[in-house]
Amino acid sequence: MVVDMSLFQCECCGCCENTALAPMTRYLPDIYDWNGMEQLKGKELCSACAPGHFADGQGFTDYGEWHDQFPRVFLPKGMFKTNRVGNLEHIETGSEDFRQYEIKPKS
Ligand SMILES: [Zn+2]
Repeated sequence: MVVDMSLFQCECCGCCENTALAPMTRYLPDIYDWNGMEQLKGKELCSACAPGHFADGQGFTDYGEWHDQFPRVFLPKGMFKTNRVGNLEHIETGSEDFRQYEIKPKS
C-alpha cells in the first residue's frame, strides 16, 4: 500500500508536518525562490519554513506561514523519522507518541 499522506519532521524548525499540506521543497526545489534562504534548498520543510515565492516571478506560494489545519508541534530536531505506516517515530525510543516530546515555547 502506498501511503500518500504521512507525517514528517521539518528539517528546519523540527515541527511535525503532514505531507498533504507541505510544499514540494525536497522533490521540486527548483520551482521555489530560495533567495535569502539558500541553506534550506532541497530540505523537507513545513509550510511555515518554506519559501513564500515561486521562482521566476510566478507569484506567491501558499507557504511561509503555518497553515493552521492542525496545531504546530515543535519536536527535538533530527530525532524523528517517518515510519512505514506514515507516522512520526522517535529514532531512539521507537515511540509514535510524538506529542510527549513536544517542546513548549518558553514564555
Ligand atoms: Zn518548519
